[in-house]
Amino acid sequence: MAGIYIHIPFCKQQCTYCDFHFSTTFEGYRSEMVNAIATELRTRIDYLEGKPIESIYFGGGTPSILNEQELSLLLTEVRTNYQVNPKAEITLETNPDDITQEKLTEWKNVGVNRLSIGLQSFKTEDLEWMNRAHTADESRNCVVLARAHNFQNLTVDLMYGLPNLSNQEWKYHILQVIEMGVTHISAYCLTVEEKTVLNKWVKEGKIHPASENKQSEQFLLLVETLEVHGFEQYEISNFCRPGHEAVHNSNYWKGEWYLGVGPSAHSFNGTSRSWNIANNQKYMQRIAGNEGCFETEILSNRDQYNELLLTGLRTKYGVSRKKLATLHAISESTELKINEFNSAGWMTEIDGVLLLTKSGRLKADYIAAELFLDVNE
Ligand code: SF4
Repeated sequence: MAGIYIHIPFCKQQCTYCDFHFSTTFEGYRSEMVNAIATELRTRIDYLEGKPIESIYFGGGTPSILNEQELSLLLTEVRTNYQVNPKAEITLETNPDDITQEKLTEWKNVGVNRLSIGLQSFKTEDLEWMNRAHTADESRNCVVLARAHNFQNLTVDLMYGLPNLSNQEWKYHILQVIEMGVTHISAYCLTVEEKTVLNKWVKEGKIHPASENKQSEQFLLLVETLEVHGFEQYEISNFCRPGHEAVHNSNYWKGEWYLGVGPSAHSFNGTSRSWNIANNQKYMQRIAGNEGCFETEILSNRDQYNELLLTGLRTKYGVSRKKLATLHAISESTELKINEFNSAGWMTEIDGVLLLTKSGRLKADYIAAELFLDVNE
């Protein structure tokens, strides 16, 4: 089982909080970029060693900027060179302003069967300071339109912990998306990343981020509201109706292999991780010159052990002691910490699998870091 991630490094405009890799001035070279990504798909055919492909994910950037021919060219390249399961999940990240009748028909034509919609908010004031390209009305209407075009497998992104977002407004946003009938929700707390406009504003005192207390309150509100309405929290930031877990995301968390193509995309094959150059011009030049466009890091057993904790503890699948022990013996000091976290009500263990409780999920990164193997172990 494996997945393919395709990074489309184009955006209409720059959201103030975003530090992903993209360009807003791409029209002059968009077809050159699409062809370069197609070439990378061909040249890295051996990376996944013939494993069947269960998930294809167009991320970015904003892949919904691509037209039907461009999407079709990339998907044909994947289908020609890899063993794609006919039932594979094919996800396209979209922004509400790109969701039109015409585009939805194009996406159906090329075989996209899941949309990931970057709604973020229904509040005009927040969409404006975030510099999102869509309006609150577009946030409200896009899901209805997508469902009318028979896209039943829909996930939306929402953001909490925004400077002036009240708990009441946040609950309203959650209830809105439930009412819209989506099957999957990803919700992220706003983080202030270094190289962003938001960071500049925070430093200048123009924007005051929400307090940690407020962030925790809104996280708990999210978890409780979605639970009451039949959603399962299968990863800290991801919730779904039964049976609608994202294949793509679950693959990451379960340590399955994936190939990432396009500038800045990451790949993983069990024992090593690679990352493509995050520069559009250099990426295209290297692909054209048949030069390597990525760097690779071999993961030691310690790296793999720590990653298993970091990702596994965030999910409902937890971390199997057996799997940990195949990488490194679990030390006495780690056992003591596990006991401590159990007693604090943050962790539990079922059939040899370590899992976080609801209150433990609030401290997931801290707990994982406490259980990490350090360099001397
Ligand atoms: S559309 Fe997405 S990738 Fe592009 S700037 Fe906004 S958040 Fe970042």
